[in-house]
Amino acid sequence: MAAGELVAGLKLITDGVKALTGIADSIKNAEVKKVTIDMGNHVISLQTQMFDLLSQNALLQEENRNLKIKVDEKEDFKEFKDNLYFHGDVYWLLDEGDKPIHAYCPICADSKNLKIKVVKKYGSGFYWWTCHNCKYEVHHTEAPED
Ligand SMILES: [Zn+2]
Repeated sequence: MAAGELVAGLKLITDGVKALTGIADSIKNAEVKKVTIDMGNHVISLQTQMFDLLSQNALLQEENRNLKIKVDEKEDFKEFKDNLYFHGDVYWLLDEGDKPIHAYCPICADSKNLKIKVVKKYGSGFYWWTCHNCKYEVHHTEAPED
């Protein structure tokens, strides 16, 4: 049920309670008057429960949206990881023809599910792969051969 339909339904209930209150005021029989007032109070109680359920529903919808985003991120990362090849102590992202595109940090990928490219650096006469996220360093190796 859409929120607009619920709001319209709640308006009908509110109008019904007002009508019941008017009827109760005009009833002379005390027992019938009491039953009518009790019915009105019960409807108000149900209306309160409906508002609580609407509120819970909105929270659950938001939680569901957030969980779907997390699932999408996990699926996206799994697809990314399925296209990685471990070579020279770094992950290589391979294209559809299995050609290496870029090297990625294995520490960040394995422990934090992060796609962090390593950067080639030079120091002390050697080339290194360096991760700016976790500071992982390893001797540079060329991309794997086809
Ligand atoms: Zn890293």
